[in-house]
Amino acid sequence: MQKMKAVVFHGVNDLRVEAVPRPRPRAGEAVIQITATTICGTDVHIVKGEYPVKPGLILGHEPVGIIHELGSGLDEDYEVGQRVIVGAITPCGQCFYCLNGVHSQCHGPLGGWRFGNTINGAWAEYLLVPDARANLAPIPDGLTDEQVLMLPDIASTGISGAESAGIKVGDAVAVFAQGPIGLCATLGARLRGASLIVGVDPTAERREMSKRFGASVTINPTACDVVAELKHLTDGRGVDVAIEALGRQETFEAALRSIRAGGVLSSLGVYSGKLVAPYEAIYAGLADQRILTTLCPGGKERMRRLMAMVATERVDLTPLVTHSFALDDLVEAYDLFSHQRGGVMKVALYPHGVPGGERRHEEVVSAIL
Ligand SMILES: [Zn+2]
Ligand SMILES: [Zn+2]
Repeated sequence: MQKMKAVVFHGVNDLRVEAVPRPRPRAGEAVIQITATTICGTDVHIVKGEYPVKPGLILGHEPVGIIHELGSGLDEDYEVGQRVIVGAITPCGQCFYCLNGVHSQCHGPLGGWRFGNTINGAWAEYLLVPDARANLAPIPDGLTDEQVLMLPDIASTGISGAESAGIKVGDAVAVFAQGPIGLCATLGARLRGASLIVGVDPTAERREMSKRFGASVTINPTACDVVAELKHLTDGRGVDVAIEALGRQETFEAALRSIRAGGVLSSLGVYSGKLVAPYEAIYAGLADQRILTTLCPGGKERMRRLMAMVATERVDLTPLVTHSFALDDLVEAYDLFSHQRGGVMKVALYPHGVPGGERRHEEVVSAIL
């Protein structure tokens, strides 16, 4: 059996780069050679033990690659050597949930999220893609790996927070937290035609980035009363839409308090413990407000749409990729990312070495030290 290099989760705070068997596709499956991937905040939850997965699993759910081998039944649609991305969420397209239009919940709650959760993920030289016909999305000619690397998860998730909320032209929108997902939610609000977009984040660099992604105003929540400030900006009413992109009680509650009667709280954060909605914040449940949650939309059609936005230069997500590492240096990359050092936003990981050689890696190392 042929081997490949992969990053395996062995338990809490125990990631190891090791040689494991290379996957082979069965009917309807494909194996792609990973050319670039990245680390997500969700991976940090897993490694810290806050979201349990089986020891022995290869993590990572953001794949960019080249079709290496096709299982039977796929020859008419795809060919070996084609460049593709695959969404973090890989719906089957045929189950009860998929056919009811909630593809991310394929086979049940969170079921569409398989890579690095219930099956081996993208932190490897090769990745087995299930239900390949629903999930392999060819990369348009001319787009680089870096231009599409944020699409499988971050962009799809963030932008969906604005889409699910049904933002209308002229809406006032507040986005709580301006990490990678929050920034993409800000971008989504701009794409949907919001007139006022407020990026809320305690970090100065992230507020600065927020403006590049479409915020008209930014607020530092540690320096003022965010809810009062948002009401002030909207003639005392509150915003039409608040997007929560952190997953904490404080931000959820502030988002709830900041929406107007009839407004929408669109939640993207990953919560733990109990989430509380105080009765005065929710107007005793009588103010025609909507609270909705969204998991990253996946599947090849979603990926095609996002790549079309990149190809037509409507969105540019490359500023989010602040650091590059070889996959061999995953532990170092994880350390930088999980501690949010060196102004890191997202890191690019390359199984076959950082393009352009060691120079960029050395720059990264000096940024850590
Ligand atoms: Zn993720
Ligand atoms: Zn399904």
